[in-house]
Amino acid sequence: MSTPPAMLYPELLAPFDLHAITRDGHRLDHAEGASKPLQSRPEPQPRGAKVHGSRPIDQAEAAARFIAAPEHEKMHDERLWDLRQKRDREMHGIAEWEELRSLASAIKEHTLTHLDQYLEQFEANARSNGIHVHWARDAVEHNQIVHGILKGHGAKSLIKSKSMLTEECGFRPYMASVGIEIIETDLGERIQQLDNEDPSHVVVPAVHKLRTDVAEVFAKTIGTDPANSDVHYLAEAQREATRPLILAADAGMTGCNFAVAETGTFVVCTNEGNADLSANVPKLHIASIGIEKIIPRLEHLALFVRLLSRSALGSPVTQYTSHFRGPREGGEMHIVLVDNGRSERLGMEEFWTSLKCIRCGACMNTCPVYRRSGGLSYGATYSGPIGLIIDPTFNQRKYSNLPFASTLNGSCSNVCPVKINIHEQIYAWRRVLTECHETPLAKRVEMKAAGELLSRPAAYRTAVAAADIALAHLPRWVIYNGLNAWGRHHEVPHPPKETFHSWYQANRGGKQ
Ligand code: SF4
Repeated sequence: MSTPPAMLYPELLAPFDLHAITRDGHRLDHAEGASKPLQSRPEPQPRGAKVHGSRPIDQAEAAARFIAAPEHEKMHDERLWDLRQKRDREMHGIAEWEELRSLASAIKEHTLTHLDQYLEQFEANARSNGIHVHWARDAVEHNQIVHGILKGHGAKSLIKSKSMLTEECGFRPYMASVGIEIIETDLGERIQQLDNEDPSHVVVPAVHKLRTDVAEVFAKTIGTDPANSDVHYLAEAQREATRPLILAADAGMTGCNFAVAETGTFVVCTNEGNADLSANVPKLHIASIGIEKIIPRLEHLALFVRLLSRSALGSPVTQYTSHFRGPREGGEMHIVLVDNGRSERLGMEEFWTSLKCIRCGACMNTCPVYRRSGGLSYGATYSGPIGLIIDPTFNQRKYSNLPFASTLNGSCSNVCPVKINIHEQIYAWRRVLTECHETPLAKRVEMKAAGELLSRPAAYRTAVAAADIALAHLPRWVIYNGLNAWGRHHEVPHPPKETFHSWYQANRGGKQ
């Protein structure tokens, strides 16, 4: 009889571990932790923004519902702030961090300003590697091309790793409409799929959910115990339910983090190895690639990989950095290069550098508005600071409120690994939207009144003095009423005893 391999933690063998999670007398593979079901009563998960065609998304309304769910808001805020702090620790470990950011920014700007050449180079090299290359002008073309490939192979099911581009293209609903089943292989994305929700974050799609929310979703969809929110139990149950579907799938699909023009190859970074499942289990692999994902040379890759994982999750490297160089033996590989508004954005003088984005999510993790309102409150594929810039390029009217969901504190720009001037572009969108009359009437009236007041110093000083007196003496209910939206979540500060203007007059006699 052969000796069983030594266990790293023998005390965790089920008979000795009172907390082990077992089913039918067998210990579950991933149940080594000590997590236990939450004892508190589950708080219902707040849902995202209400979307009505092209009517402007009311982000503030959806954010208010998220804030009104304190367990969700606290968990979301803390979880994302934790990622931000981990990112900071990693950043401080690299002395040349700022040089890396500048270099990454310069490479991206160079590539975007020579995009036609690099795309053609990428296409030629990918073809010579045996990859079929397709071009999609927009989301509809992308979906039709992929459908055509699947139809040509008689494929009825597709396993897919997380890809914001396919979300942007409305790929899942389209495939459902033509009778092709999609199974997400990323755990967070699978949770969102089972809950019929979009991802709420570009890196951690289900980060807005408590584990009681996940327990509820799994109980309804894969038959788990609704009272058991142990993370190991839930992950294992999901694995058991999904693995057979993955193994039987007819085709696989991935996104792409970086496509290298020099080699015609592409790279996908994941922490679960799910892109490798999607790409390697079925013989047919389709990759959807936004045209901005191109980098010129293989030697540039290390720079971006170093920046991506540290900025995203505060880890030195993603668990899996998978290079796809061509179809495997007996298999077939297709790439769909997608524009979907990117060329148009490239021509926007104030917003073209948003195409440098490597979707690390760091700007979301640091944003005080995003952390407290949840990604689904934006009602768009891209949320958080980068979403405020990208979304209006798809539909100005629908996303006209979004650039106002920011404090403009500039933290997003400070953490961005490719140095996008995010807060300046958000500010620029406010001006553009106001000029195009895409802002609500009430906001236009307020802004006009504020402009009038600020342009008349004497009237401004009188108004400030009157407001100070009012704030000091009016009863609370007069100040905190339904018209004072700001006062719903803030204490109006006590007016100072003296304004700067009156101090200056008294101490400097008004002289310059
Ligand atoms: S804008 Fe910058 S920080 Fe935000 S997701 Fe893109 S690369 Fe990351």
